[in-house]
Amino acid sequence: LFAAECDFLWAASSVASLPPPGAPEIAFAGRSNVGKSSLLNALTNRKSLARTSHTPGRTRELNFFGLGGGIDDARLRLVDMPGYGYAAASKEQIASWTQLMQDYLRGRAPLLRAFVLIDGRHGLKPPDYEMMDLLDRCALSYQIVLTKQDEVKEADAARRIEETLKAIEKRPAAYPQAIFTSSRTADGVAELRAAIARLLAE
Ligand code: GDP
Repeated sequence: LFAAECDFLWAASSVASLPPPGAPEIAFAGRSNVGKSSLLNALTNRKSLARTSHTPGRTRELNFFGLGGGIDDARLRLVDMPGYGYAAASKEQIASWTQLMQDYLRGRAPLLRAFVLIDGRHGLKPPDYEMMDLLDRCALSYQIVLTKQDEVKEADAARRIEETLKAIEKRPAAYPQAIFTSSRTADGVAELRAAIARLLAE
C-alpha cells in the first residue's frame, strides 16, 4: 500500500468544503512542531508531501492526501489535521479549529482512526488531553504515536510508553497501544504502516 504514489488531494477550511466521502480515511493530529509533517513524509516515502500544510494559510485546513490514486480512486486518504497548541493562537482561532475538527471527526463515515502524535521527548501536555477529550466526545477510535525517538534514551522511551498507556487507560476511544517513531531513523514507521494496513483489512 505504502509503495503507491501519494499526492495532495484537497484542502478544507470548513465542514462545507470537505471532499466528498470516498476511500477510507486516517487522520493525523498533534501539537504544532510535534513532527507530523516529517512523519507523514516518512510514511509515504516523500520528501515534501506535507509541506503544503505548512504554507501560510494552509495551517488551519484539513489537508487530504491520496495513496494509490486521486480523489475518485485512491485506496486510502491520509488527513493532516491543523496543528494545535500554538501559544500565539487567539481564542477565536482556537474555537474555529476546534469546530472544524469536531465537525469532521463526528460525522465522517470513511474515517477509521485518528493517530495523535505526541512529542516523545516531552510526553502528553494539556493541549493533547484536550484533543483526546474531543476524540472521546466524538467517539472516534484514536491511537497515540510518539515522535522523535532518536532523541530519547532507550530506558526513557520504555518509561514514556508506560506512562502514556497509563494516562489513556480509562479513555473510552483510546486504543491501548502506542507506537514510538522517528522520522530521522524510520524506527517505528513500519509498525505504523502495519497498524494502518490492519485497519484497512478489518
Ligand atoms: P509539524 O509542525 O508537526 O508538522 O512538525 P515538523 O515535521 O515540521 O517537525 C518539527 C521539527 O521537529 C523540525 O525541526 C523537524 O526537523 C523536527 N523533527 C521532526 N521529526 C523528527 C524526528 O523524528 N527526530 C528528530 N530528532 N527531529 C524531528
